Amino acid sequence: MSFQVQAKDLLGRVGRVKTKSGAFTTPHMFPVLDPHYQILDPIFFQKAGIGAVMTNSYLLKRGSLGAKPADVHETLSFDQSVATDSGAYQILEYGEVGVKPIEIVRYQEKINTDIGVILDVPTGFRAQPERARWTVDETVRRADQAKQSMTRNDILWMGPVQGGVYLQEVERSAIEMSKRDFPIYALGSPTELMESQRYDVLVEMIMAAKKVLPSGKPLHLFGAGHPVLFPFLVALGCDLFDSAAYALYARAGRYLTSEGTLLLSEMTEFACPCPTCVERNPIEVLKAGPKTRELLLVQHNLWACFAELRRIREHIRRGRLWELLDLRARAHPSLMDCLERMRAHSPFLERSTPTVKPHGIFHLGASSEDRPEARRYKTTLLRSVAEYARLVLCLPGRWRRPFHEDPRYRVIANSFDDNPKISICYYSSSWGAVPIELDETFPIAQTEGRDVGDPSLYHSKARDVAEFVKSLRPRRVIIVSDGEFGRCVSAELLSLVGKSKTVVLDGKKLKPQAIIKSIERRASTER
Ligand SMILES: [Zn+2]
Repeated sequence: MSFQVQAKDLLGRVGRVKTKSGAFTTPHMFPVLDPHYQILDPIFFQKAGIGAVMTNSYLLKRGSLGAKPADVHETLSFDQSVATDSGAYQILEYGEVGVKPIEIVRYQEKINTDIGVILDVPTGFRAQPERARWTVDETVRRADQAKQSMTRNDILWMGPVQGGVYLQEVERSAIEMSKRDFPIYALGSPTELMESQRYDVLVEMIMAAKKVLPSGKPLHLFGAGHPVLFPFLVALGCDLFDSAAYALYARAGRYLTSEGTLLLSEMTEFACPCPTCVERNPIEVLKAGPKTRELLLVQHNLWACFAELRRIREHIRRGRLWELLDLRARAHPSLMDCLERMRAHSPFLERSTPTVKPHGIFHLGASSEDRPEARRYKTTLLRSVAEYARLVLCLPGRWRRPFHEDPRYRVIANSFDDNPKISICYYSSSWGAVPIELDETFPIAQTEGRDVGDPSLYHSKARDVAEFVKSLRPRRVIIVSDGEFGRCVSAELLSLVGKSKTVVLDGKKLKPQAIIKSIERRASTER
């Protein structure tokens, strides 16, 4: 077994999990299959690029197939990786399930599973604190018991983390399970939070576990299966999911998309390019018999889930997962809240975000302010070689990058670039202050932002610039003001650095030569 990480962005990663039956790319969702009701052709999984599925070993054991345990790959007609759940979900739904933890481990070994789950005790959403504490302790006790009874070493076992909405319990559970060295860790009880759209609690739950679990191991989130949430869950560090939602939704005539769920009966056209949708329209699918309709919706729903997972992986490889979150958050106000909550964890997200990316990033306004690159730039700026200059020249950092190549102000920058008396600092509505020394570094030179920036940020960005310039303790500041943002920065400099020290030159009215002369005259009077 191995888990190899190929690309990272935020806490999200593209990886490869190898089992004894094959390998598959993460982030991945195991579609949960009902062994007693199989409607999908094995060819479908191949076509859709689904390299691993999941089934419930408890239901398998209890059902008609349980008497004679056969290889689960044969039972499901699936020769790639198969994961088996333990029946813990049934405990959550119906209470104790009358099967012993050791029994279920032995059974999973017998049916030759590739990825197994020990029989943990889910905390659930409504548990009282004492109950939550007990589920954590009991799961740890069962993990020890299960580990002792394992006889095969070619199965990847998941170590479940419980605790529910009690974050301290989640953390304690994650610490205890980490000590027990499982190849995969799994976080339980998120389903009800997702159904009730309590994404704020969900974010905190995942973070509580993620911060203490070993970072080199994959993290599985039980019961997550809606594409709308995948980008957020992946960005928080979840690598694996399992769900039967695709099938349950199909049965109810519900059509999954990465922006939300639609009702087939209310649709006129399909916008999805999957093989199921391109050849049909919603009326045809609706009028097909119930069996065919269910099958077609199952197929589309799976395509929708896997298309979104592929999209996420591409965004991670390009270093643009934040851009995808920004887009997806606009699909629903609750997702906006989810992203908002994630911002509070930016310092943690920043740690695993690469410092240099293969592509530039986009500055889309206020929503880009807490992305790791923006936070990191602020730290870089504070640590940058602050030249305590006699004269600070502030030039507009506009759309052209690097800023010193902006044709309108290039000649000014070139005239003073190596003048030891003068420090050049650009002011940008995306980044705030950018000393010329940082102008060519990532991500400043690679970022694309709006020409005029985000006007709602003008005030705070202008303040940032003025504070930075003030920290250089200048004898004099000359600002070449351009546009509305230039006026904001000038006003902040006048108030923060002082009227006697600040000179404002109008970049739009004055010709570059006149600006240069004016600066030269002032520089020559400095010692
Ligand atoms: Zn489709």
